[in-house]
Amino acid sequence: MNLENTQLVPRMRQFGTTIFDEMSGLARKHQAINLGQGFPDASPNTLILDAVEDALRTGKNQYAPGPGIPELQQAIAAHQARFYGQTYDPDTEIAVTFGATEALASAILGLCEPGDEVVMIDPAYDAYPALAMLAGARMHRVSLTPPVYPKDGGIVEDGWQLDIDRLAAVINPNTRLLIINTPHNPTGTVFDKNTLQQIARLAQENDVIVVSDEVYEHLVFDGATHDSIVNLPGMRERTIMISSAGKTFSCTGWKTGWACAPEPLATAVKGIKQFLTYGGGTPLQHGVAAGLMLDDTVFAHEAADLQRRRDYVVDQVSRLGIPVTRSAATYFVTADFAPVGFDDAEAFCRWAPEAIGVAAVPVSTFVADKAPVKSLVRLAVCKADSTLEEGMARLRRGFQKGL
Ligand code: PMP
Ligand code: GLN
Repeated sequence: MNLENTQLVPRMRQFGTTIFDEMSGLARKHQAINLGQGFPDASPNTLILDAVEDALRTGKNQYAPGPGIPELQQAIAAHQARFYGQTYDPDTEIAVTFGATEALASAILGLCEPGDEVVMIDPAYDAYPALAMLAGARMHRVSLTPPVYPKDGGIVEDGWQLDIDRLAAVINPNTRLLIINTPHNPTGTVFDKNTLQQIARLAQENDVIVVSDEVYEHLVFDGATHDSIVNLPGMRERTIMISSAGKTFSCTGWKTGWACAPEPLATAVKGIKQFLTYGGGTPLQHGVAAGLMLDDTVFAHEAADLQRRRDYVVDQVSRLGIPVTRSAATYFVTADFAPVGFDDAEAFCRWAPEAIGVAAVPVSTFVADKAPVKSLVRLAVCKADSTLEEGMARLRRGFQKGL
């Protein structure tokens, strides 16, 4: 979608079509294996499906209350208590939203006046800059430092690092919001406690509200744990914690998300959310409520199964001489295609669906400063074994042919 020379407000034209739609469109057009957009091809747990079906058939088909059905607000509160030891009042401190995206939109639009400063960390999920621009905010983007992708191939065990001095250089008393995302899309990095503590210190020193996007909270590997910034001293009161059922329960198309925050912040989110979409997806909200009440073992099983698929992709990709991260979490790994002759990941990703039948996403679309990540490609590992096998076979064949 070329938005130039259209009636769209000029400041939003630069965002074009999302990379996910573009690459999934190419995948459909060329029947490519879609390792681009992050959605699984498995179905949600049958208990969740049963709860949705039951809701559909027992008359739960009308508007939900704007902030969500009470059953889901309560299930979210119980989830926060179970996994984070945090108490959120279901009625006043929790808003159910249309995916994490609407929670992000409501937080940014509800808390930023035009001209307010918003800080985000690159690579940044595509909605953050677009929503900050929609709000008329002034944006600062701070780049994570990539690990070294060895030129002779191999597996990259390190995550991407936040240089706290770079963050400190842009945060100031005019900063209204700091958006963080851990576990992190697209890098698969999990911020360690030390990093979160440094972020927390800066937020408190400068009286900044933190929007903490934790949609991959349950998809963490190798026995690692995900720490939320809300658990650091002084942070619960200044943090909007955002998540979504999409990743955890393999239902990205349900777009059921939520925001948890102290009442003054949660009310700001609800104040916008009610006029973006009001309340809906009622049967799905019932399903997600059932999902959030499932046993710990169900959550652990999902992560273990995804870890197995990550290992498969990492092994296969590294065998092609392509250095690739063993991500600590998320749906994604990132690989450097420069050693195999592709310096430009955007060009590779636009070419590969037709040429070799595989779709992927260039990391450069998540950043303002493209040069340091120019040859990095994000591959989604959240697909069925057969999909991944075929994707890897096509990559292999492509490379054997010398591309
Ligand atoms: N944040 C991040 C980091 C994501 O990867 C995504 C995409 N799934 C979202 C937010 C949006 O989540 P949802 O689909 O629930 O709107
Ligand atoms: N979060 C998913 C990804 O990063 C896609 C979300 C979307 O298509 N907007 O691939």
